[in-house]
Amino acid sequence: MGLEEYKRKRRFDETPEPAGDVKKSPGNSFVIQKHHATRLHYDFRLEMEGVLRSWAVPKGPSLNPGEKRLAMLTEDHPIDYGDFEGVIPKGNYGAGNVIIWDNGSYDMVDPDTPEKGWKKGKLHFVLHGKKLRGEWVLVRGSRDPKQWIFFKVRDGHAASDVDITVERPESIVSGQLVDEIGETTPSKQWVTPIERELEQYGMKAPGRVPMPHITQPMLATLAEKAFDNNDWLFELKLDGMRCLIVKNGSKLDMWTRNGKDLTYRFPTLAAAFE
Ligand code: MN
Repeated sequence: MGLEEYKRKRRFDETPEPAGDVKKSPGNSFVIQKHHATRLHYDFRLEMEGVLRSWAVPKGPSLNPGEKRLAMLTEDHPIDYGDFEGVIPKGNYGAGNVIIWDNGSYDMVDPDTPEKGWKKGKLHFVLHGKKLRGEWVLVRGSRDPKQWIFFKVRDGHAASDVDITVERPESIVSGQLVDEIGETTPSKQWVTPIERELEQYGMKAPGRVPMPHITQPMLATLAEKAFDNNDWLFELKLDGMRCLIVKNGSKLDMWTRNGKDLTYRFPTLAAAFE
């Protein structure tokens, strides 16, 4: 397809989106951008033939193999678009907020190249993302060639009880939610007494990371037998109540399972962190 349609739809003196070009060297990246335009949707993009071949997925991906998601084919995007997170200004094509919801690389399972799969109208591949992993399938619809279906293949990364779009709504780059992007007032960064002390000794305080948006502590689940996996960290299961504490400036959040606010229940513990 090339980038003619992409360029025709955009005014690059107004939008921060990259103009980009068709890339000469081959690559196998993928990106999913959460895009709050007139309607919220997820843009799924696979690198092939020097561009990001793109589908708009209104409901976003599902880890449940039983849930087939509509994926509308849209125009090819330049490879540079995979790094775009920001605000497309009002009056421009796709006006609204964009975050990088997931990215990584992909490997074809069947057929052996994405170009063959593109021709055939069926791509079976493995995603190596931060949120999405394992095998997925994209199939071109028989009635409308622009209507594709995107779904998870049953494997160790499939899950029917987790809505990944709800559990992990944030950008994997900035940690921000799609509607937070472009807000011009970043939270004030305080110098804590510990940081001041570290500075006196010529030491650097640990880097700051975006506030996580987690409200459910991870709990132990029963398994049939023990297993090992390099993607996992293992820890002893101790009895008690597990809770997450996030201190953001003077604001303190404590959560336990079911999103219950513990700040009220343990005022002394809360006070200790303030
Ligand atoms: Mn979009």
